[in-house]
Amino acid sequence: MPSYVLPDKCDGCKALDKTACQYICPNDLMVLNKDTLKAYNCEPEMCWECYNCVKICPTQAVEVRGYADFVPLGATVTPMRSTDSIMWTVKFRNGSLKRFKFPIRTTPEGEAKPDGGFAEHDDINSTALYSEPEAAGLEKIPSTK
Ligand code: SF4
Ligand code: SF4
Repeated sequence: MPSYVLPDKCDGCKALDKTACQYICPNDLMVLNKDTLKAYNCEPEMCWECYNCVKICPTQAVEVRGYADFVPLGATVTPMRSTDSIMWTVKFRNGSLKRFKFPIRTTPEGEAKPDGGFAEHDDINSTALYSEPEAAGLEKIPSTK
């Protein structure tokens, strides 16, 4: 289900150096045509179908091809992302619409702590998870040794 760009909706992220879809694609598949200022997926067969480009595009210009066995031909699913939620619009092939809105984060944008606020551990041979033993409410992780 590789992604593809609807040229009519794509504004090339207003010709910024790196477009949102280029920035977010983990496989570097999105390319901006500098002449037309339209982006495209340069290698659909390598697409991981992660939907990142679909969700980040500010103009809802990126869609994915649904396989006909689970997305009836003519149906579409379009996300609209805000800073704290994402709205999915499902359009059925008979024209009816359904919308679902989900929260996407538990902290304000830019406030997430990469280490989760847990102290750094320097024992790389430890079998404990990064947040353990604190997150488990223990002083140390029990061991059979
Ligand atoms: S993020 Fe959307 S608008 Fe921006 S270049 Fe990509 S497809 Fe076009
Ligand atoms: S769906 Fe994921 S892998 Fe495919 S082009 Fe978009 S961001 Fe890249």
